[in-house]
Amino acid sequence: MKNRVVELFNIRFPLIQAGMIWCSGWKLASSVSNAGGLGIIGSGSMYPDVLDKQIIKCKKATPKPFAVNIPMLYPDIEKHIETIIKHKVPVVFTSAGNPKTWTDFLKREGIIVVHVVSSVKFALKAQEAGVDAIVAEGFEAGGHNGRDETTTMCLIPRVAKEINIPLIAAGGIGTGRAMLAAMNLGADGVQIGSRFVASHESSAHESFKQLVIGANEGDTLLTLKELTPVRMLKNEFFRSIERAYEKNASSEELKQILGRGRAKKGMFEGDLEQGELEIGQVASLINEIKPAAEIVSEILKEYELARAEQASVKFTFS
Ligand code: NDP
Ligand code: NDP
Repeated sequence: MKNRVVELFNIRFPLIQAGMIWCSGWKLASSVSNAGGLGIIGSGSMYPDVLDKQIIKCKKATPKPFAVNIPMLYPDIEKHIETIIKHKVPVVFTSAGNPKTWTDFLKREGIIVVHVVSSVKFALKAQEAGVDAIVAEGFEAGGHNGRDETTTMCLIPRVAKEINIPLIAAGGIGTGRAMLAAMNLGADGVQIGSRFVASHESSAHESFKQLVIGANEGDTLLTLKELTPVRMLKNEFFRSIERAYEKNASSEELKQILGRGRAKKGMFEGDLEQGELEIGQVASLINEIKPAAEIVSEILKEYELARAEQASVKFTFS
């Protein structure tokens, strides 16, 4: 496969594994990169010394390019940037913040910069800031999400029309058929998160992985729009937020319910009732925990099969 995303990152397939807090450490990132995609270390949940060690291990585990995702809300962002430069990490994905803040600086260091957005407006802002590519992520996605509820189906064609740099589609993509659909809508590649949570190499807690593979349609919802909108599985913590909404809770009260470290508690420590369990709608299509390399090859095989099927269907217009 040759296209703009493959060429930009120097990878074999335009398949990127999303940086996910508590789920994507060096084991997952290096496995996806070794399989021909682009693996990403999710640094939002790592203290600076942890990120340092994770990058060293990732470099040992793969000779291939990999990336680090930094949510711009991260409190010690300067330290993460220093670490990334020190280790000459080739690609950085930034998210949840203004792309103007770090893009120039990172690019002067020779780093490829990609920014994650949820709307055409932010895509244009990121392009103007000089990023090399954009991830446009739709409403179906797990974890932090846009406020406008724009689905991947509606977001991708619009962003594709407005920008001229490579476009990576995200949100609701976990299969080869979905990858083909996203490419048909105008994307040059896809970013996949949830499917890789249920991989052997993900650092998510085993109980969380089991819950993900058992999830059904309708089991996740986007909530906490007043704070940072986030899609999660419905559990006791989620229901406590719902009860607060019923009582017209203020943002301050919601913040108190959220507390600190909920994501770690749920996804890393396996507290399935009191923790925050971030996963996308696509969880209902995931039924098995597998090695990451197998997930990559299955997606690509299904993509090729679906593409061949599509090519054989012809409509006659009179
Ligand atoms: P290792 O696999 O050697 O793990 C190092 C330690 O982290 C071990 O004590 C291990 O516990 C523990 N650990 C790893 N995964 C989990 C998990 N899912 N739930 C609970 N404990 C876990 O090295 P790594 O390179 O994977 O980890 C190095 C450091 O980075 C650790 O501090 C780890 O916690 C942290 N990490 C952080 C991530 C994040 O998103 N913030 C992601 C991955 C790792 P045990 O041996 O009992 O399994
Ligand atoms: P909280 O404020 O609830 O908790 C902070 C968590 O991050 C704790 O578990 C803490 O670990 C850990 N942590 C790692 N490094 C630091 C640091 N330098 N300072 C303080 N805490 C640190 O935040 P969340 O768990 O909701 O989010 C953590 C990060 O992940 C944020 O940067 C957030 O923007 C990002 N995020 C990104 C998402 C995405 O979709 N991209 C989704 C959700 C969050 P410990 O308990 O060991 O102290």
